[in-house]
Amino acid sequence: MAETLRNTDDGHQNGRQDSGRPDVRQGRAPRDEARLWAELVATARRTVADGLVVGTSGNVSARVGDLVLVTPSGVPYDRLTPDDITGVDLTGRQVLGTLTPTSELPMHLAVYRTTDARAVVHTHAVHATAVSTLVSELPPVHYMTAALGGPVRVAPYAAYGSDELAGNMLRALTGRSGCLLRNHGTITYGATLGQAYDRTAQLEWMCRLWLTASSVPGLTPSLLTEAQLAEAGERLKGYGQRR
Ligand SMILES: [Zn+2]
Repeated sequence: MAETLRNTDDGHQNGRQDSGRPDVRQGRAPRDEARLWAELVATARRTVADGLVVGTSGNVSARVGDLVLVTPSGVPYDRLTPDDITGVDLTGRQVLGTLTPTSELPMHLAVYRTTDARAVVHTHAVHATAVSTLVSELPPVHYMTAALGGPVRVAPYAAYGSDELAGNMLRALTGRSGCLLRNHGTITYGATLGQAYDRTAQLEWMCRLWLTASSVPGLTPSLLTEAQLAEAGERLKGYGQRR
């Protein structure tokens, strides 16, 4: 779907610059935005239902052209309606809706500005956050490490919502599609909301796995080698249904 949306959507900023009318939305299909918003809200609700966040912590975004739809700050996800659609441009300027965008906007925008991400999921998942306080990199205890691009790094701590945190996160994301944020949580991105969500779920599961294995007294978990991870990465590229 992201491909279709991208093709029907461009020129948001160009339209504004060319015409001088801030509200002109050339080439944008509002129905596609509404559909993406519905998908974003469903994904945000899933992070709560699956126990990856509590209350209104965590946030989700999706990009279409130069528009980034994002969960608003402090509104429980089960209360979000189609009318609450909230969107910013890549500089963070609000172009859709009246609710204040998530306070973690700098992290989301930093990902979109530097990668081909179409969706970003940020959570405070408990096992992942626990691991972020213990190590600077999640030890590769499982081959799904390869699905995130390699051993998952922990970004150094900085205040939530700060540009410093966004910078620390970007460095930790180098060559990866997800990372941990020290004493804070997780962030992953993907080509779709479903892929970004699944990477978060896998990351949380791997953190739980490592905590479980490493908590057995007197024993240390075996780790995968770089070569084993590379091999798993190749296999994962061909995983799934072939059409
Ligand atoms: Zn957070």
